[in-house]
Amino acid sequence: MRLATIRTATGLRAVRVDEQAGQAVETGDADVRALLEHGDWAERAAAAAGPVHELAGLDYAPVVPIPEKIICVGLNYRDHVKEMGDELPTHPTLFAKYPSALIGAYDDIVLPPESDKVDWEVELAIVIGRSVRRADAVTALDAIAGYTVLNDVSMRDYQHRTIQFLQGKTWESSTPVGPWLVTKDELPAPDGSGLAVSTVLDGEKVQDSSTDQLVFGCVELVTYLSTIVTLNPGDIIATGTPGGVGHARKPARYLTDGATTVTSIAGVGELRNTCRAERP
Ligand code: ZN
Repeated sequence: MRLATIRTATGLRAVRVDEQAGQAVETGDADVRALLEHGDWAERAAAAAGPVHELAGLDYAPVVPIPEKIICVGLNYRDHVKEMGDELPTHPTLFAKYPSALIGAYDDIVLPPESDKVDWEVELAIVIGRSVRRADAVTALDAIAGYTVLNDVSMRDYQHRTIQFLQGKTWESSTPVGPWLVTKDELPAPDGSGLAVSTVLDGEKVQDSSTDQLVFGCVELVTYLSTIVTLNPGDIIATGTPGGVGHARKPARYLTDGATTVTSIAGVGELRNTCRAERP
């Protein structure tokens, strides 16, 4: 099942996306987070029979527009750790984003005038579907509603001003996420392993890897993070990016006004965005 948050003339709506029928059906909830907060969200979404929208031209909001938490994992692909010149980590590197960073799957990525080192990072993102604290492997997998795609657009100049990543990671309207949440039962493995991950920049493939390269897998991440804090429905965990980012290229390459990115996770979906210089 695919679940999305769409923008309509009368506000946001959670929908079940039925690709074969070419339609999206409203679930009666304001967004996917509100849907997931129902303990029986899967049954509720499957049985949804609200107003119907044609898929063509649907305006996708961030799949969860205002998550309680957006937790990101850095340096979590073996190939990316290598290209950044780092040692394999013994514990996850963690940072956060704020909801104002999020944009819809096909929205423009805003390039702020303050940074000239804006980079791409395709990531598999976990969406939590059930509150969980101190999960073990079984309850961690159970807490995962499904997966979506996130482009962790990063302002490298700001990211590297200090040892804390945050200021390079949460610029306003920088981070597409969506277009939908695919429930974990629809993937080859419910733990998100074995999925091809790629970025195409202006028609050229620049990232090409697999979630099998993850240092800390999805179940391990939910277990680790839920030890620290209760994870709640709608929380997003971005699991890190593989090799092929612009900052590690020789010469380095960054996003510029008019550039287009297609970031994809096989079996989950793809984000298609145009970069637009902000003119305040
Ligand atoms: Zn990242």
